[in-house]
Parts: sequence; structure tokens; C-alpha cells
Amino acid sequence: MVQQANHRTVNAFTIDVEDYFQVAALASAIPRDSWPTREYRVERNTERVLELLADKQVRGTFFVLGWVAERSPGLVRRIAEAGHEIACHGFSHRLIYTQSQNEFREETARAKSHLEETIGKRVLGYRAASFSITRDSLWALDVLLDLGFEYDSSIFPIRHDRYGLPGAAPEPGPISAPSGRTLIEFPMSAATFFGVQVPVSGGGYFRILPYWLTRAGLRQINEHKGRPFTFYLHPWELDPAQPRFAVGWLSRFRHYTNLERCEARLARALGEFAFAPMREVLAKLGFLKRGHNEGSPSEIVAAG
Ligand SMILES: [Zn+2]
Repeated sequence: MVQQANHRTVNAFTIDVEDYFQVAALASAIPRDSWPTREYRVERNTERVLELLADKQVRGTFFVLGWVAERSPGLVRRIAEAGHEIACHGFSHRLIYTQSQNEFREETARAKSHLEETIGKRVLGYRAASFSITRDSLWALDVLLDLGFEYDSSIFPIRHDRYGLPGAAPEPGPISAPSGRTLIEFPMSAATFFGVQVPVSGGGYFRILPYWLTRAGLRQINEHKGRPFTFYLHPWELDPAQPRFAVGWLSRFRHYTNLERCEARLARALGEFAFAPMREVLAKLGFLKRGHNEGSPSEIVAAG
């Protein structure tokens, strides 16, 4: 039997809106210039997420990739109209540390302004492709500040082959950019089992680890560590019928394991933990000045 959320910590529920052919794990098998010819499944898969959230009465934050937002403005509006927060997942899904600062600035500005024009509200939050704000790309925090973002959610305080900032603060709060200015960071979450950090809060980890372990980890973060976690998932993770690509075993394992189990697991987690959009969690913690209804189109113009 699914119980109501059994504690009061409200966690950030987030979705990175991108299609199955855009993920870093498959990049070696899918040339970027073939993207426009691929079967486009992100709209239907995102609608499925929206239905599930409506059913569970949960609102969250959707970090939308600019490439998708430009093709699917109606989808972006439907997400916003359902009461969810629209945030920015960059434009191209290129890893930040493979971009020049100018490339990053230009494509992120394009993605942000397109989203803001689409929904008629300011966009406050940013998440990098594959959590690619690392020691080598901390300069991106200054670019985000220049572009008017108020928070970032790109840092994974663990070790990983493609991302991670070991030793970074595990809880939401101010983070210093290289210029000395501060931005609010809401990092990805990991539990600690026998002294080992285990990312339990989304994506492949959520699909691959047994649910009892995920639940134990999420409860540990809420109850023992006393802080909210970031939950994250992608629409393609609920789509076992997506086209499959021949990639190496590690990428295959990360991308395809338990796709058919993910939706039921997600429904379970939505019933067992309390969630809200990231900006509301941050506002409640006192880190953001604005409530979730603020941010009119006139402010967009004022913010340039
Ligand atoms: Zn992504």
C-alpha cells in the first residue's frame, strides 16, 4: 500500500526535457546532424509525465532543452499551464567543458530568451547537459549570472567519468562563481551507505538500483541528513519502445536498463515523498526572493 508522504521535507522534482537521441551516453552512435531525421518522441513521453504528475497532484520543474523548445513551443506552454516551473537545459546538449565561454553564453542566452518568450515569464533556473559544471567549467556560473539566472542545478558532488565535483556542498545554498559573485546552487543528491556515496535520486541510478535501496537513500537524505533532495528523470526513461542503438556495454547499461519498470517506480516515489518545483523549494528555504507566480513579461524586458 502506498502511503502519503510520511515526513514534511519537500523535495525538488525535476525533469530534463530532451529526446532519447540527445543523451551523452549515446553520442558516439548518433551524429548530431542526424537529430532532425530521428523519430521525435519527446512530446508524447513528456505528456505521459504530465499525466502521471496530474494524477499524483505533484508539480515540478521542467528543464527544457532549447533544441526541443524551438520545435515544441506548444509543449512548453502546456507544461507551464499545468502549473509546473519552466527552467533551462541549455540549447544544444553539448557538455559545457567542451564549449568555449562564448559558445556557451550565446546558446544559453538563445535557449533562455526563447523559453521566456514562449511562456511570458522569467526563467530563473538552469541545468547543464550531463551535469557538466565541473572544476574545468566553473566559469559557467559567471555566465549564468550575467544572463540573469538566479539558481543552478548542475553540480553532482560525486566522482563520475563524465561529471562530478567531489567535495562540493551537498545541500542547496549560495555558491561562489570565479568572479566572487554568488548564485544559488541546488545540487544533485547522494545518500551514504557504509561510508560510500550512492547517487539515488534520479536518472539511471533510479532505474538501475533496486527501489528499496532508492527509498532508503531518499529517506536518509530527508530524515537523517535533514535536507531536501533533487529528484531528476528524463521523458525517454519512461519509453521502453524507443529505438535502440548499438553502443558499448556501459552506455547500453546506463541508458536501457529497466526502462519498462521506470513508470511504476516513479508513480511509487511520487506517492511516498513530498515534492514541489525547485524554485518553490528554494524560496521556502529563503534562497530566492521571488514567489513562483512572479516574473511578468515586463520584467523579462527589464532584465534584458
Ligand atoms: Zn540532459
